Amino acid sequence: MQFENSLEFAEKMDQQDPLAAIRNDFAIPKMDNGDDEVYLCGNSLGLQPKLAAEYVQRELAQWASLGVKGHFSGDFPWMPYHEFLSEGFADLVGAKTEEVVAMNTLTANLHFMMVSFYRPTETRHKILIEEHAFPSDHYAVESQIKFHGFDPKESMLLIKPRAGEDLIRNEDLIELIEKEGESIALIMLPGVQYYTGQVFDMQAITQLGHAKGCKVGFDLAHAAGNIVMNLHDWQVDFACWCTYKYLNSGPGSVAGCFVHENHHKDEDLPRFAGWWGHDKSTRFKMENTFKPIHSAEAWQLSNPPVLSLAAIRGSLDTIKKAGGINALREKSLKLTGFMRHLLTTQIPERITILTPSEEKYSGSQLSLTVRLNEKDDPERGKRVFTALEDAGVTGDWRYPNVIRVAPVPQYNSFKDVYRFVEILKNAIDNH
Ligand SMILES: *Cc1c(COP(=O)(O)O)cnc(C)c1O
Repeated sequence: MQFENSLEFAEKMDQQDPLAAIRNDFAIPKMDNGDDEVYLCGNSLGLQPKLAAEYVQRELAQWASLGVKGHFSGDFPWMPYHEFLSEGFADLVGAKTEEVVAMNTLTANLHFMMVSFYRPTETRHKILIEEHAFPSDHYAVESQIKFHGFDPKESMLLIKPRAGEDLIRNEDLIELIEKEGESIALIMLPGVQYYTGQVFDMQAITQLGHAKGCKVGFDLAHAAGNIVMNLHDWQVDFACWCTYKYLNSGPGSVAGCFVHENHHKDEDLPRFAGWWGHDKSTRFKMENTFKPIHSAEAWQLSNPPVLSLAAIRGSLDTIKKAGGINALREKSLKLTGFMRHLLTTQIPERITILTPSEEKYSGSQLSLTVRLNEKDDPERGKRVFTALEDAGVTGDWRYPNVIRVAPVPQYNSFKDVYRFVEILKNAIDNH
């Protein structure tokens, strides 16, 4: 793709963009002067699809007019409501519909998955995660290890970038699994790293992990709705993701979970059970013998919050209208490619991009550090970030010194990207 440094070029890209009109299906936050913000924070909280609001309103109306009968009435009865999301989730992560379910929240799902897939023994008790995993993942893993009576100092195996580097090297990861594989019970890594935006080679990791006898699960918080995956074919054991980042389903919205069909018929697998995981045909007989559904639904505990599921359904329908994850990814490569081009040609001496440049190893997000010279103080990056916010750019700041920006193919335009880089240049010049 040949990019040019001009507003005209950005506008031309928008005119030729088959997904440009999807932006109108979202509520875009405004600046004080009434202009649209340059919203580049979909990696943290995605914008509201108009369909999400419509579908939530619809369930509120159902509740108002039908009361308890809403469980069984209308086009989208509450009783099987989570099933209406299965197809959309399955398309996003490359799974069969039986392998995915909407339930709980991300960290809760990580715990429930570890109950089933982290079964430490004296000789195989380690969990491999990144040294700088998202804190919630770190806490979840550490507490699971302690729960089983093991010592995190011995059982948490941490992979980290080499000294002076930001990214975890594939070869280092492979070497570690080769070396320690026999003692690893579970490999739990992100699909996309939240701080650097690095994409992990999930297929290769799963293959190698399985060859060593490990279970392999992924946290897809930053991958779902961002990159193309094939969890089923890759034989991934489990995966969990939240729906409020690239899946635009609202703050704290219900999460997604994948369990490979290889595990669905294993009724001896330990799990923390609840009535929503019980065989649907006898669930309401209120008997005491738990009979797990032979699908990912077996891991459900409770009847789910339908208002949140309705918002997810609105988001998934919007994604479907856009042509699904392949169409989004195609635009994303151009959109983020354009941003990378502008940054590297216009201010290469001022900005470092941590995110890998290879398509295979990057998604929508770019993680930027503002480079300092001898005279700059270390707070400069933060000051530049604040100046961006004042000028109508919403991105996010992650300690110690990264500005994360994610042009999202569903609602960001090439013009947004152009505006962002102009504003950033200004902010750097003036701070
Ligand atoms: C966003 C995110 C979380 C958040 O967890 P919740 O349980 O949804 O609050 C956890 N882990 C990672 C890697 C994330 O990116």
